Amino acid sequence: MSTAADSSTVPLRAAVAALPPYVPGARPAPGARLWKLSSNENPYAPLPSVLEAIARAAAEANRYPDMYATDLVAALAAHVGVPNDQVVVGNGSVAVLSHVLQAVVEPGDEVVYPWRSFEAYPIAVAVAGGASVTVPVGHDGRLDLPAMTAAVTPRTRVVMVCTPNNPTGPAVHADELETLLAAVPGDVLVIVDEAYLEFVRDPQAPDGVDLLRRHPNVVLLRTLSKAYGLAGLRVGYAVAAPRLAAGIRAVSTPFGVSHVAQAAALASLEAAAQAELLEHVSALVAERDRVTAALRSQGWELPETHANFVWFPLAEATMDRAAEATAAGVLVRPFAGDGLRVSIGEVEANDAFLALAATWRP
Ligand SMILES: *Cc1c(COP(=O)(O)O)cnc(C)c1O
Repeated sequence: MSTAADSSTVPLRAAVAALPPYVPGARPAPGARLWKLSSNENPYAPLPSVLEAIARAAAEANRYPDMYATDLVAALAAHVGVPNDQVVVGNGSVAVLSHVLQAVVEPGDEVVYPWRSFEAYPIAVAVAGGASVTVPVGHDGRLDLPAMTAAVTPRTRVVMVCTPNNPTGPAVHADELETLLAAVPGDVLVIVDEAYLEFVRDPQAPDGVDLLRRHPNVVLLRTLSKAYGLAGLRVGYAVAAPRLAAGIRAVSTPFGVSHVAQAAALASLEAAAQAELLEHVSALVAERDRVTAALRSQGWELPETHANFVWFPLAEATMDRAAEATAAGVLVRPFAGDGLRVSIGEVEANDAFLALAATWRP
């Protein structure tokens, strides 16, 4: 039966009609006993102090939030070590990414990024009116920064670097990124997406803030969704040179970060809370090391992960393996024809997945 909504003849923008769907990680059906390792979530629930802040803020939900999230911006700026005018917050770093692109991309401008990488990228680029130029990620799961540099043309406005790369796991190295930044014209924006920054233990990883100080065409994207465990409340931010930050702020959704989310983020950045949250991150890193060692002893050779997930390049077997995982009680994130991404979760969840992965070895 067709409804009025179905029969609308209003044309969508061509770029919108052609958008690939964003496929979220699978969610367990209500009441199902399934481990959710499909969305790179933090398995730790919010701290009591954060829950209290959330409850207090919820009681004020009839009021608009502080539009510029003044206190949160100040706390994040202090946390990062930059002046307040270099921080812009948004409704998750996915929203901030869209705002960054909308601030700089003219119709048809090229945006160079690795692939496979974060699946929000092609959508955000198309919505901003840009043209995607993708550069294959190596078989080792590492970004090919020389090939990305070579893909830059006079039509390139933005280069996006995802480190660690979602879904493959490796972090870029400081010297590789320096070489890219030295080669890319200063009027090309280089977005460094550091969503998993706090999980990185690679001594060769770059220091984003130091890069930004020396290269004012760099924008850092960060989030409280992963290490800080606030994925459900949506807080992300960009760190950029003041003029760029002002442009990003100008296109941002008014009141884009809710009052509750601002309160939760502020409570999470309090010194004691932050120390505890970073202990959780260390425990997850230890768990990641345990899982990767166990997989290695099962005979797997996988990319070196510095995030809270592991990548299995299973190619054509991907969808069948994902279905087997669901049947075994573990939700994972398949990318058809390419591979499976499995988040590091609760110890029991990881054990359930490890038992399954052992059965996949010949
Ligand atoms: C999870 C993730 C984000 C963060 O998303 P939020 O919108 O902040 O929840 C950004 N970039 C990458 C690569 C991610 O994997």
